[in-house]
Amino acid sequence: MSKKLRVAIIGAGPAGIYAGNILATKYPDVDIDLFDSLPAPYGLIRYGVAPDHPRIKGIVNSLHEMLDGGHIRFYGNVEFGKDLKLDDIKEHYHAVIFATGAIKDAALNIPGVELEGSFGAADFVAWYDGHPDYPRTWPLNAKEVAVLGNGNVALDVARVLAKHADDMLSTDIPANVYAGLKESPVTDVHVFGRRGPAQIKFTPIELRELGEIEDVDIVLYDEDFPDGWFNEVAEGVTNQHKVMARIIEGWREEQSTGASRRLHLHFFSSPVEITGNGKVESIKFERTALNPDGTSVHGTGQFVEYPVQAVYRAIGYFGSELPEVPFDEKYGVIRNQGGRVVDASGAQVAALYATGWIKRGPVGLIGHTKSDATETIDNLLADIEKLEDPATPDSEALLKKLSERGVKYTNWAGWQKLNAHEIALGAADTSHVERERVKVVDREEQVSIAKA
Ligand code: NAP
Repeated sequence: MSKKLRVAIIGAGPAGIYAGNILATKYPDVDIDLFDSLPAPYGLIRYGVAPDHPRIKGIVNSLHEMLDGGHIRFYGNVEFGKDLKLDDIKEHYHAVIFATGAIKDAALNIPGVELEGSFGAADFVAWYDGHPDYPRTWPLNAKEVAVLGNGNVALDVARVLAKHADDMLSTDIPANVYAGLKESPVTDVHVFGRRGPAQIKFTPIELRELGEIEDVDIVLYDEDFPDGWFNEVAEGVTNQHKVMARIIEGWREEQSTGASRRLHLHFFSSPVEITGNGKVESIKFERTALNPDGTSVHGTGQFVEYPVQAVYRAIGYFGSELPEVPFDEKYGVIRNQGGRVVDASGAQVAALYATGWIKRGPVGLIGHTKSDATETIDNLLADIEKLEDPATPDSEALLKKLSERGVKYTNWAGWQKLNAHEIALGAADTSHVERERVKVVDREEQVSIAKA
């Protein structure tokens, strides 16, 4: 016999929306309320994907359809642990799925990391994506910049820093971001990987894109390419690696075009110290070399220093702890087994589930989140008989409680208004051929448009 299920999802990014959609498909007799601390839905797509990646941003269209289907109700501007407590969840729902992602930068413990001009990539991304909780201005005053890391976030950061602001004008960047980028005096962006060019974590489309930026030359260094640097038949080499090796080899043969900006790719460089008198003046690396396993590296005892005035650490994201939810400090994830939340002893915590980056860590592309959500939903549904009936199985009662607490929550109809407003701003901007939207940044402004 099926029971009517009520499930809350915390986090309206792709992980939360996929989980809701999979749950509603597998178990139609369900009411799902999807909460987000931000007034607008879409999480990482709205606030993590680079503005000049419209193809990835396009995932919003399928997420929109999932939310528009009527099974999932969206409530924004509601912070779990503050506006909405675990006790509220227990009173109104059978279960909760946490899909809060990973939005902090992983720590890099080297001297000088606290200097002015040393930034976490996650913060910079939040700035250029117009996240309401981040400052509106960004100190773009460096001519030479170091970006640490060889993953796609490093590529996003390097590309946005190297691109001329006018080439970002067809995107949804807010006016303050365009103004900031326009003032940037940058001439040289240096990206550093601690391993070799065959061990990069980029993906081919994103790597190729670097070579297509207007008025930016790619610079590579022979010392980073030992003879036979790419071994096609080595263990773990995929077609993606082969494509990327060809892209890199192509760049090595290219001559400088005399572009006004350069994007340098350095490898075998492990950061050891950022130096400067109060602010970043240079960064020091230890050169590394591959171990016989062909993937890991060791320090060679040789050090190299580069003059830079800013350092961006793009060495991975890290999850944030949620109140009353068991957290693994080492990996920055909610403690879980297959999406079932467990305590430090490994015992299951009833009614609590996790999915997405807060479940498995900040790796993988957006699409991978679907299989991850399927696992969590299958486990939730396997537990269905154990899930206790809530005392007040009623969303209206919860919304009333939120209003009494002074929470100005937004809803799906409100998002439709904000969405239409942003699209209208884009259409009204006549300085470019085509602009799909201009984002509203301020939280209060978003809320007041959504609630108008
Ligand atoms: P990532 O792919 O895990 O890359 C992290 C990079 O940081 C690696 O090169 C890693 O080197 C390096 N690193 C880690 N600790 C370091 C240290 N102490 N010193 C120097 N380097 C260090 O992570 P990400 O770039 O944050 O991306 C997260 C996920 O989002 C990835 O799956 C990525 O593909 C995806 N993403 C996709 C796009 C897109 O446009 N498609 C955009 C952004 C993000 P090692 O390899 O040596 O560990």
